[in-house]
Amino acid sequence: MRAERPQEAALAWASAVAFLTIAAALGALVWGPAGALAAGLAAALAGRVVVQRAGARTRRRRALIAAPLPEADRRFLLERYDHYERLPPELRRRFEDDVRLFLDEARVTGVGIEASHELRLLVAASAVSLSLGWPAAEWDRVTEVLLYPDDFDRDYDAGRERAGEAHVWGTVILSVPTLLESFEHDRDGYHVGLHEFAHLLDVEQGEFDGMPSGLAPGDRRAWAALVPAEIERIRARRSVLDDYGAEGPVEFFPVAVEGFFERPQELRRRHREVYEILARYFAQDPAAWDDARDLSG
Ligand SMILES: [Zn+2]
Repeated sequence: MRAERPQEAALAWASAVAFLTIAAALGALVWGPAGALAAGLAAALAGRVVVQRAGARTRRRRALIAAPLPEADRRFLLERYDHYERLPPELRRRFEDDVRLFLDEARVTGVGIEASHELRLLVAASAVSLSLGWPAAEWDRVTEVLLYPDDFDRDYDAGRERAGEAHVWGTVILSVPTLLESFEHDRDGYHVGLHEFAHLLDVEQGEFDGMPSGLAPGDRRAWAALVPAEIERIRARRSVLDDYGAEGPVEFFPVAVEGFFERPQELRRRHREVYEILARYFAQDPAAWDDARDLSG
């Protein structure tokens, strides 16, 4: 995420100029030159408000990331989150910026449970892990994150319990015990936070289709071709990926994402094409970062 949203300032200016032109033309038509002037002035004022509002968010974002991530939050994430720990320094800083912006802007609500600062940090960490390699990305598509005190009654059968849900219109539901467990067991290829936010990357024309949006054209073809074969591998128990991925292409993508972040070296070794497509897609290389960590450790 960036302090200044892409095209936002340009868009604000363009709409201000459009206001001005239309108002002046209308004013001239109805009242002649004096009307054009008056209407133009009114439109200029309205335009100023639009430009200022766009500027206000940019200023708020700049102020937010000017202050460092609080030390307690940094320690909490280091203790709890393996992916944060493996990041190279400059990406770690970007991760921290994105976490602060996400926390400030996303609506995270507890349902029968308090949405504590720590829980909100884990939600933010889940989402920004996916978008970290895309500096211009925004999480606009998330309308609300609901935290439930327990596993609930939809989605996720097949032994995964009922732990999460994502809706095409942008609501994400996460069971808190499962979210905590997902961060605790960070090498088992199961992470409800990564899973549900990954679903949202896959919304195309109001539905999930199993094809991550924004994938490069060549990789789209490769992905479409490899998914059925990879699902067969899961069914034949010859896959690194969790069984739930065999439910179909729509579940395969988020399950592959969980594998990518939680078992990257194994995924690269045994499912090289899946790994490479996801590494290009996310512009991240967790297996290489783990190689570096193993060498230095
Ligand atoms: Zn799912």
